[in-house]
Amino acid sequence: MARVYNWQLGREMDYRFEEAHPQWQFAAVFNINRCIACQTCTMACKSTWTFSRGQEFMWWNNVETKPYGGYPHHWDVKLLKRLEEANPGGQVWNGSQRGDRQPYGVYNGKTIFEAAAAEGKEYALGYLPSDQDWTAPNLYEDTAKGPQGAPNEIHPEGTQLPEHNTWFFYLQRICNHCTYPGCLAACPRNAIYKRPEDGIVLIDQQRCRGYRKCVEQCPYKKALYRPNMRTSEKCVACYPRVEGSDPLTEGVPMETRCVATCVGKIRLQGLARIENGDWAEDRNNPLYFLVQVERVALPLYPQFGTEPNIYYIPPRWVPRPYLRQMFGPGVDEAIDRYTNPSRELLAVLQLFRASQKIVFRYEIEEGEKIPDTDTFNDTVIGFDKEGQEIVRLSVLEPFHVRPEQFQNSI
Ligand code: SF4
Ligand code: SF4
Repeated sequence: MARVYNWQLGREMDYRFEEAHPQWQFAAVFNINRCIACQTCTMACKSTWTFSRGQEFMWWNNVETKPYGGYPHHWDVKLLKRLEEANPGGQVWNGSQRGDRQPYGVYNGKTIFEAAAAEGKEYALGYLPSDQDWTAPNLYEDTAKGPQGAPNEIHPEGTQLPEHNTWFFYLQRICNHCTYPGCLAACPRNAIYKRPEDGIVLIDQQRCRGYRKCVEQCPYKKALYRPNMRTSEKCVACYPRVEGSDPLTEGVPMETRCVATCVGKIRLQGLARIENGDWAEDRNNPLYFLVQVERVALPLYPQFGTEPNIYYIPPRWVPRPYLRQMFGPGVDEAIDRYTNPSRELLAVLQLFRASQKIVFRYEIEEGEKIPDTDTFNDTVIGFDKEGQEIVRLSVLEPFHVRPEQFQNSI
């Protein structure tokens, strides 16, 4: 095993291969607070990539209801349990030990790679879901956790922020195109690779022999087996769109299908420039601003150790201990910043799902104070890779009054 630096854990860790980084890294921010679980993202992905024979149980994008839902069933609970068994009582963070290269503090527990190394068997700790686990992709949809812990338990006294006594939330999941992918480390055929130009992780279908080691050792269970082809497949990050080869955008990079179709406007996807293994300072790239400056968006289960590249704005109403085990010790600060947004954050939040082209840079034009509020009606302008303006939105939504002659004209 090599030693590599994982900034999300604030320390070095063991990994099968030497540290190597792409020029740009595919990344996204999902705002959980806004998702309505319409599953448009899920169907946009399925109708683009996984509608063929053998792909019936293959959902590269899924939206599950937490805390009970998950696809495959209980994928996270099962792996967390295994990690706990491998290192009883030791899976903890030191959230106070923060610095530039350790924004969430230091993780003192074992990652999936370290837990496997201790056992001396595999490259990453994992498990192979059963056929039953891959059925019913949205089991427990809208099932709430009650105040005593039971599902859908009635809470008669009502509830209010900051934490609800009866709660659930939607978790939107795609492949994280991890910096240190578990799937890639696991593959005995070296069929999985991370593209140097954009960090997208792909399975070479010619090399794959369907051993399913990636299915076993991807901690997020986003490598999936296709029985009729006897190979594994996974999210390809809509790479032709990200490359800019879709004729619609005339050569500039375009968002993935799940992002571009999002009805709730919860998703913002782009590319982060990488320099010496870190996100290069790029103050006006919206992803850099949300993840590295405001730190309002956090990685999912960073303790697994793969350095995932999909970031989440945590849901405001959910009990904090649950969120801390899922997103790490940055949760309280992230929720605080989202609840009381800075002037700049409020403007940048307007960019979500505002254009099909990827926003590489934004500028803000200051506007007037909105009467009777502490908010300013600033305008955010987004630019594509070539520096062309692609979107312009104000904080206050424009208000249109239907002219007299069109009243009740339906
Ligand atoms: S399309 Fe957007 S709002 Fe609808 S389920 Fe997907 S992420 Fe949520
Ligand atoms: S989420 Fe899983 S399939 Fe995707 S890159 Fe990470 S380890 Fe591989």
